[in-house]
Amino acid sequence: MAQVLVTGGTGFIACHCMLRLLADGHSVRTTVRSLARESDVRAMLKAGGAEPGDKLTFATADLMKDDGWAAAAAGCEYVLHVASPLPIGIPKDENDLIGPARAGTLRALKAARDAGAKRVVLTSSFAAIGYGHTPPGRPFTESDWTNPEAAGVSAYSKSKTLAEKAAWDFMAKEGGGLELAVVNPVVVLGPVLGPDYSTSIEMMKTLIRGAVPGCPRLWFGVVDVRDVADMHVRAMTHPAARGERFLCVAGDFLSVRDMALILKERLGEAARRVPTRVLPDWLVRVGSLINPKGRAYLPELGKRKNASAAKAQSLLGWQPRPIPETMASTYESLKRFGQI
Ligand code: NAP
Repeated sequence: MAQVLVTGGTGFIACHCMLRLLADGHSVRTTVRSLARESDVRAMLKAGGAEPGDKLTFATADLMKDDGWAAAAAGCEYVLHVASPLPIGIPKDENDLIGPARAGTLRALKAARDAGAKRVVLTSSFAAIGYGHTPPGRPFTESDWTNPEAAGVSAYSKSKTLAEKAAWDFMAKEGGGLELAVVNPVVVLGPVLGPDYSTSIEMMKTLIRGAVPGCPRLWFGVVDVRDVADMHVRAMTHPAARGERFLCVAGDFLSVRDMALILKERLGEAARRVPTRVLPDWLVRVGSLINPKGRAYLPELGKRKNASAAKAQSLLGWQPRPIPETMASTYESLKRFGQI
């Protein structure tokens, strides 16, 4: 069993990675920006069924500061670098996202290399794969890259693309004996562990509350957070994962309306407010003038996309659960924590 560093322990995906690592018998150290968050992290893990005691330790590190990274990585065989900002809407300055994503990735990689760690698994994103070009008429694969220079590419997509590119570049030039594997998830849903959860849950919450009058013509991939954690752990030790990136998506992409229909079917009366009519693009554009949260998605209206997880399935033996099950368990967890 190994000592594993997971960065950003307060996060949705990081918590599920920790649950999985602890269940497998590993010891975990996690970074937080402030040690005052230790009790929150322990509470989220408890909600997920784990009370790790001293199998879990905490270190302080900020993606934007050098302090603490060496101590956090010391003695760790593996590092899961999960932390990165994932805000709602468009930041005032795109560098507020790009800075921590890219500089933080390099800090985590350097610390891992200097500590003699074996491998880093970086949580990248479909945002580093499927934006800034015309959908190619075939599912996106790991050989595709987002074009961060293209018009309409969001600050978040740029941050994930530039961070992942910087990681591969670092490995080529100064990685030494360190190995890198990258996981590229689509929209991550699944059980939240407390009232503080990722922005990726917001879309489903918005639909269930009926907070939008209909479904914009947008297509997303969905994957369960427990399967994202499973892929991180497989990518951490599997010999075939070294030097590879893996799309992390359960099945075909869905339109927002497809998601609405799944919610109706799975949740019955609880989904009574979920809208199913398709909104014309012009109405979505006008709506975004009133509610700017969705503005980042406007360039994607009408772009039907898909992506394939065939590589992870064949190389790592990864098998995701069905999307309706993920959506139902997201709803149950939101209800459990009084969020819906
Ligand atoms: P999350 O719950 O918002 O977690 C983000 C984590 O990053 C938090 O622990 C946060 O710490 C940390 N962080 C942000 N800025 C930081 C900084 N300057 N210094 C140190 N830590 C910082 O989001 P998540 O969904 O778990 O996302 C985790 C990773 O998965 C990210 O890399 C994201 O890009 C990637 N991803 C997510 C999705 C998705 O749909 N959720 C899809 C693809 C990829 P604080 O609590 O202190 O803010």
